[in-house]
Amino acid sequence: MAPEQEDSQEESRTIHVKILVHKQSNKVVFVEAKKDFVDTLFSFLSLPLGTIVRLLATNNNNNDQQQHQQLLESSPFLDNIKYIYQTVQDITSNDVWNNPLCKQMLLHPRNPCESQCMKLFLNIDDTEPSSKFYVCDSCFKFTTFQNLDCTCGKPTNRQPRNLDSKRVDAQNQAFLRENGSTFLVFDDLKIVQSSAMTTLSLLKELGYSDLTQLEEITHNIDKQEILNLLKYSLTSHEPMTNTILKSSSKYKGNLPNQSSSAEGVKPCASGGTKMDVKVVRSISQKKIIFVEANGDFVGFIFSFLTMPLGSIVKLLDGNSIAGCVGNLYKSVEKMDSSLCTNSRTVLLNPGVAPYFGCPNQPLNIPDLQPPTTYYYGTGTPYETYNYSLKREVKVEGGVISKTKESIFNARLLTALDPKSPNMSREGVVGFVQRLALYGVGDDLKVKSLSANSFLLYLKELSLPIEDLQVEVISIGEAEALSFLKAFLTAKFTLTSGLGNLLDVPKLE
Ligand SMILES: [Zn+2]
Repeated sequence: MAPEQEDSQEESRTIHVKILVHKQSNKVVFVEAKKDFVDTLFSFLSLPLGTIVRLLATNNNNNDQQQHQQLLESSPFLDNIKYIYQTVQDITSNDVWNNPLCKQMLLHPRNPCESQCMKLFLNIDDTEPSSKFYVCDSCFKFTTFQNLDCTCGKPTNRQPRNLDSKRVDAQNQAFLRENGSTFLVFDDLKIVQSSAMTTLSLLKELGYSDLTQLEEITHNIDKQEILNLLKYSLTSHEPMTNTILKSSSKYKGNLPNQSSSAEGVKPCASGGTKMDVKVVRSISQKKIIFVEANGDFVGFIFSFLTMPLGSIVKLLDGNSIAGCVGNLYKSVEKMDSSLCTNSRTVLLNPGVAPYFGCPNQPLNIPDLQPPTTYYYGTGTPYETYNYSLKREVKVEGGVISKTKESIFNARLLTALDPKSPNMSREGVVGFVQRLALYGVGDDLKVKSLSANSFLLYLKELSLPIEDLQVEVISIGEAEALSFLKAFLTAKFTLTSGLGNLLDVPKLE
């Protein structure tokens, strides 16, 4: 099937659900649905933050936009990721990125659960999948990224047929098993398996005693509504009501705790990677003016875009994230294992897709390793009754496989790191040039620094030198977590992210 056809099919797919509405308050009590719907909701946890920004930006073209805007509660988290996304988009300078693809990778991060998400009935992640291969047939290197130059300088323009790729069947099971179970999805994204008993006790628990106020309606949820659900899951405590009834209840009593400070953060392990940065702050303004750091620190901030939601909820207490993704995460965690596939555990800490990690960052997020052993050839062996005699069936563009035997005269391929600078044979670390010095402003704007431009930078700020103080801080795991938490809970600046790590008494 042609990719365009698949796309349009995905666009028009809908999921049939039953909705229990409380008439008086015009609020969704719960949505009763099969695994298809719940699997799609679960997949939110696999989305890298950069993908979320990109999907929601495309989603903004719909006509209900104005109405939806009114329903949005303030979400520093969503605003901050959008801001970092924009910052990355705005950097055009060649002295920041290791190669032009690095910026594109941050703006289009791959999903660590790509293969599971491709089995979803309705998959909202339209990121280019990693199943296509590009080969340099002069030095036998391969990549899954398009338009990448090989380290030998030649383009990787050969596109062999992948013999291992199987047709993805929509009936396949992503995160939940297909056993006919029905689930209840509550307005705040708590999800449980449905049964008469649980329904009754949960209704009581939620205070819905007057059954005459409850009405059941049926509804077909489309991709647009799933995208809205994603948005409201990050901004609201009632994403179902916001999405399906396009309303919001007056009652905002159980807002998630958004004001929690960074104090509750505990380091998980001692030692590990540390990044030293020089902080220049203004004594009179009590704020950080800028930070001087190498590429590790800049790459660390940018790599928030490649981190999936599930890994971030795991790192921090889910309650500190606005909206109700914390509830979604707990629902995945608590779901009876007999109902789940093995992929459920992956969702609880998806990690970063292969090549999308930032190796020198101090957060404990797993970095998925790419499969490295692939064989390449110009054709497949022709099986004859006489096993000693093999002939080649030529395939245009060549063939690639993990199994040597399925290729005639197979050559071993080596993987090309997409982040490698052109014409370089050296291993590469991260998206930005590591050894360069950068000035990062309080507003996260990044500038490449040399000794001269550093002075210019200070002049531009037109601040009296005697008001500036320099301090070196070391960012390890605990500090990085506190930095991330500030990012999720308040309008993000370097002062909000690093301020509590400074030796404050000196300010007086
Ligand atoms: Zn090459």
